[in-house]
Amino acid sequence: MIGDRIHQARKSAGLSMRALGEKASISAMAISKYENSKSTPSSTVMLSLARALGVRIDYFFRTSQVELKEVEYWKHSRLPKKVLSQIEGDVVEQIERYLELEEFLPVSPIEPFSLPPGLPEQIGNYDEIDAVSGKIRQAWQLGNNPISDLIDTLEERGIKVFLSNALHGDKFDGLAARVDGTPIIVVGRDWPGDRQRFTLAHELGHLALAGRLAEHLDEELAANRFAGAFLVPASEVIKELGYQRKRLEPAELCVLKSAYGLSMQGWMYRARDLGVVSQAAFQTMYRMFAARGWRKQEPGPGYKPEEPKLFMQLVFHACAEDLIGESKAAELLGKSLAEFRTIRNVELCGQQAVNQ
Ligand SMILES: [Zn+2]
Repeated sequence: MIGDRIHQARKSAGLSMRALGEKASISAMAISKYENSKSTPSSTVMLSLARALGVRIDYFFRTSQVELKEVEYWKHSRLPKKVLSQIEGDVVEQIERYLELEEFLPVSPIEPFSLPPGLPEQIGNYDEIDAVSGKIRQAWQLGNNPISDLIDTLEERGIKVFLSNALHGDKFDGLAARVDGTPIIVVGRDWPGDRQRFTLAHELGHLALAGRLAEHLDEELAANRFAGAFLVPASEVIKELGYQRKRLEPAELCVLKSAYGLSMQGWMYRARDLGVVSQAAFQTMYRMFAARGWRKQEPGPGYKPEEPKLFMQLVFHACAEDLIGESKAAELLGKSLAEFRTIRNVELCGQQAVNQ
């Protein structure tokens, strides 16, 4: 069992046996033996492995109960195997801590995820997707206003959201999976907020649209359409842009991006999809964005990235109800007891990274 844990932590750190060996001053051969349960590391070795892998010693003794199932890659992205196992290791560890915490909470304050009743069984064209998004917004009592914290919104409805350092840069897309039926979504920790939000809404789109799309519709385009609609309902697009426009100014899109957390390009697609601008006008704007290098990096201030907060909230909930002690709480948060006490004293409230 310890062997599996070492293997998992090593994958999650993205290290080869040799690289881990060098960091921990142990031979690669010895690590191979530990991982294959052919020998058991001494407590001194365990300590240096823990240090080299950036985990606490108790990590090695926890039983892994999690397997990522139904893993779906966004836009069929070709995530290199190494990155994928890094994400899996990283996220599986976070999920394990979640499951452990839930064992201490007799009644979870969060209902399991379910879609609201009354969604259409068949969706025959992309325009119908706006209504699906509208139904979900209505059932979740979100009104038509911008969603200020999308991670929080999804977590409250039973979707677990995780951040991973392995999804860095613009190379990789998000990742969605199910663990024991609970949908989870993984997005990059260092992504701009609008990119995180679009990915989250896109994955919610997959959940909402699964099994409803007519055969001629592309699932990815449909999920993108859902994401745009969920972040900015049609009524708001019209309210902000008007019914009919010749073109849209970049500065105007920049303001709207910071108000709604939908990228400038997301607004362009939205305007085209709802017939506010013509396909030709859209293409002109699109070419302009490409020529100025804005397709990759949009001008103006970025949208602030989001952080999951529910896990930490539940840890303190369990603490307050004396369901767990301080050292268990610290362990669940991956903190030392001293760090945990600092957080508990609200010295760092609001700026503490969760699940890290
Ligand atoms: Zn997708």
